[in-house]
Amino acid sequence: MGQGLSCKTTEEQGLFTAVQMGDLETVKAVFERNPAIFHHSTVFDRNSALHIAAADAQIEVLSFLLEQSMQPDLLNRHKQTPLMLAAMHGNISCVTKLIEAGANILMFDSVNGRTCLHYAAYYGHSDCLQVILSAARTSQVAASWGYSRFVNVRDRKGATSLHLAARHRRHECVHMLLENGALVCASTGGYGFPGSTPLHLAARSGSLDCIRELLAWGADRLQRDASGRIPYTVALRKHHGTCAALLNPSSAEPLVWPSSLKFISDLNHEAKALLECALMEANKERENAILKRTDYSMASPLESDHESDNLSEESDTDLCGICFDQACTIEVQECGHLMCAQCTLALCCHNKPNPATSSPSILVCPFCRSSIVKLVVAKAKTENDRTRDVSFTKPRKSWRSRNSSGGSSSFKGLSAIGSFGRLGRGSGRIAAENEWLEKPLSLDP
Ligand SMILES: [Zn+2]
Ligand SMILES: [Zn+2]
Repeated sequence: MGQGLSCKTTEEQGLFTAVQMGDLETVKAVFERNPAIFHHSTVFDRNSALHIAAADAQIEVLSFLLEQSMQPDLLNRHKQTPLMLAAMHGNISCVTKLIEAGANILMFDSVNGRTCLHYAAYYGHSDCLQVILSAARTSQVAASWGYSRFVNVRDRKGATSLHLAARHRRHECVHMLLENGALVCASTGGYGFPGSTPLHLAARSGSLDCIRELLAWGADRLQRDASGRIPYTVALRKHHGTCAALLNPSSAEPLVWPSSLKFISDLNHEAKALLECALMEANKERENAILKRTDYSMASPLESDHESDNLSEESDTDLCGICFDQACTIEVQECGHLMCAQCTLALCCHNKPNPATSSPSILVCPFCRSSIVKLVVAKAKTENDRTRDVSFTKPRKSWRSRNSSGGSSSFKGLSAIGSFGRLGRGSGRIAAENEWLEKPLSLDP
């Protein structure tokens, strides 16, 4: 008997080593000989072969084990599933495979009461986070628990995945979680300092990128933790000077991602990326101004140089009919009006979103006031369009120069919108050419 036991132990060790090394042949051979051994686990952590394969990214072995109908949700000593270990180690193929095999994404370990989502966020594996979130959308979890509830699930100390990502400087995960409905102002229970919001935790870790993301999503700079501290105080205490400057409640308010846009469910991906880029650019300009302690409305000489360099190039593209400054990059659907990403944002960024009022206001096209069904990236013009448009390339330039000499003329631009809208599409692709030719003349003094 004694011999048998030690023999079994050796075989067990051999198996675990083979799994760890990804030695599929040996694993298969052991399985042929003794399938029962696959129910054994390691001595200390009680990890199964599946746990080991998941932690060590041995996808072939993992797939083999699952094909032998090994249960995907085995628990180790800490009640951790193979999926949690794969998420911790960022083994995306294992995460995907386990979820395909039916692994439960809503299991809590006994260490901190965390889920696989917490672990992916904590360790900053945004690819794994994405896979888990898509699984949550489609799986039973969404139906039974609710998707938002899953995204905001708390560990034993009251930390959501967003808290963990902010604390550990995982700005990509912060971004992804916010996009998926993570509550930006949630306070922790006992995690970190009690009552901390994600912004407090980002201030603590000194992550400028996380702070930017959170502020752009409407995080409140004035929210206090249980000790009465605002994020600004936390950043100061931790000597994160730059973070503190942005978190200082007396510095310029950051531009906030408009809640009305958050809820346009079919906001085209490219359009969203463009808008996000515009928002971040605008906020960076504010940041620079805050950091230089200068007035951010002052145009930088560099910018105007850049502008004149690009003049000939940009005359090939449509200028935004609102600011007369940037190229049109966003098309409003159904009406087809064009404007730049900055203006799209500006028109939607009047107010900070109020978490108390969840009903988003309906977005309307600034040209024709028809409701915006979708925002898409404006298509680049074809050669044909360009030749047709040649007649009003010059006038556009003249609006531009008027604009730059006249300082802030976006409101002047707006006042012209009435007639602009009447003329049809902002691009002029549909409006008759003679109508367009009159347009610049009417603007002459
Ligand atoms: Zn514009
Ligand atoms: Zn319109």
